[in-house]
Amino acid sequence: MAKKQFKAESKRLLEMMINSIYSQKEVFLRELISNASDAIDKIYYKALTDDSLTFEKDSYYIKVAADKDNRTLTITDTGIGMTKEELENNLGVIAKSGSLSFKKENEIKDGHDIIGQFGVGFYAAFMVADVVTVISKALGSDEAYKWESTGADGYTIEQAEKETVGTEITLKIKENTEEEQYDEFLEEYRLKSIIKKYSDFIRYPIKMDVKGQRPKEGSENELEEYEEEQTINSMVPIWRKNKNELTDEDYENFYKEKHYGFDKPLKHIHISVDGTIRYNAILYIPEKMPFDYYSKEYEKGLELYSNGVLIMNKCADLLPDYFSFVKGMVDSEDLSLNISREILQHDRQLKLIAKNINKKIKSELKSLLKNEREKYEEFYKSFGRQLKYGVYSDFGTNKEVLQDLLMFYSSKEKKMVTLDEYVSRMPEDQKFIYYAAGESIERIDKLPQTELVADKGYEILYFTEDIDEFAIKMIMNYKEKEFKSVSSGDLGIDADENQDKADEVKNENKELFDYMKNVLSDKVKDVRVSKRLKNHPVCLTADGEVTIEMEKILNAMPD
Ligand code: ADP
Ligand code: MG
Repeated sequence: MAKKQFKAESKRLLEMMINSIYSQKEVFLRELISNASDAIDKIYYKALTDDSLTFEKDSYYIKVAADKDNRTLTITDTGIGMTKEELENNLGVIAKSGSLSFKKENEIKDGHDIIGQFGVGFYAAFMVADVVTVISKALGSDEAYKWESTGADGYTIEQAEKETVGTEITLKIKENTEEEQYDEFLEEYRLKSIIKKYSDFIRYPIKMDVKGQRPKEGSENELEEYEEEQTINSMVPIWRKNKNELTDEDYENFYKEKHYGFDKPLKHIHISVDGTIRYNAILYIPEKMPFDYYSKEYEKGLELYSNGVLIMNKCADLLPDYFSFVKGMVDSEDLSLNISREILQHDRQLKLIAKNINKKIKSELKSLLKNEREKYEEFYKSFGRQLKYGVYSDFGTNKEVLQDLLMFYSSKEKKMVTLDEYVSRMPEDQKFIYYAAGESIERIDKLPQTELVADKGYEILYFTEDIDEFAIKMIMNYKEKEFKSVSSGDLGIDADENQDKADEVKNENKELFDYMKNVLSDKVKDVRVSKRLKNHPVCLTADGEVTIEMEKILNAMPD
């Protein structure tokens, strides 16, 4: 049986598309600028194989101009233009992408700069415009044509006048309504900020006539208005530049420009991967903790770009929670985007990138720890807590990644040490990694429970944060050495010589011990003679998994 073709209620389809694809109206400009950039790219690619064409980068640009009085916004490009047929096919057929066909026809494999692929972006113009007029002159053609449409009702095409090759798109911006504002799309500052936000790294200049004020010549305090053409975008993305050509200052400036933080970054990581997955990334480890870091308001994530066009402001999937302090951006040409280019279709590539990034951050932190100890300790002061949370959550599956990055204050060194450092200088007869939990270093110093361990000459790690002991319980052991609280019942320290004596003392004073146990019956399990005290008369010990310090924290938690 002959198959029938689906028909579409194209008017309704277009209406749905215009109103439901994008979550924000402002992206219409991103779409039109991306198309203009594609159109210039096409001349560039043609010139690669056509000797009669030369590509002089300086003569190609995109211009954005607003006319408040007439409520029009015009986007002009010096790109390849469209013939009458192309206007019909590309702008008259929904989901037809001339750019995708161009990539295929010209077998441009690394044509990763061409952005278009879905054939719907152009219609975003109707989110903000009542009428869209396109006047275009194709490369190699003498005629220009005008395409005009009010949206779902259809379009007209007629011959028009245009001197130079390229395309000029004019939007008649909608009037403000009670619910929706459109005036902003005629404001210079707003247009500038939209261009900066989404199209900063388009490789051709995006120009605007910008108004300003300057001191009047020959006068001291009079100002005069002037207008000059400015390029709004920075064009060359720093992440595509060669690392060797970039200075620390360049990275710092980028950090500031992008408002990643108010501090100076402690460390930057520039990644360029060109393997099965291709991406560039610039990541930063901040120096200072953002004021809202340990609050619910803080949102982790990296900026995500596809071919230099911003797709997402904060892509949370790129960072595990324990590295939520990392700032920066990722640009990849391999992402499968959905048609709004706002969310990702499959997250396979993204997962790969995330995994890769995770590894890099970890190795960068390790090398910071190894080679720039002071900087690392600075970092650890701000974000060490987050690493410990990372160990604690996920039932310890992160421990492999994170345990080497942990630090604790050491009784012996009187400074922060790593677990590796602790274990590597353990005397042979020492079986456990000892720790003492308390409110502060000074308090722990005074704990009677530390005496026996310290007396043995063993190092003790001081746990002063409430998360410490919980995190360590997840790690369980480090390099096959188990952790042991100095206040646990059995310290694993030979004190046998004292055992007989202790039993003797207890027997001799049986009545006293029974009496104490009775009085404290609802507070303690047992009263024993201690073998571990020297200068203190009493101490408390815990028998089970939960130590006294942990119990305090658990009791303080809301039910
Ligand atoms: P996409 O960019 O995903 O292909 P669009 O709806 O944005 O889809 O554009 C449809 C097609 O219209 C493009 O593929 C391109 O062929 C053509 N086009 C749009 N704008 C321009 C322009 N400024 N210059 C030349 N061709 C354009
Ligand atoms: Mg497009």
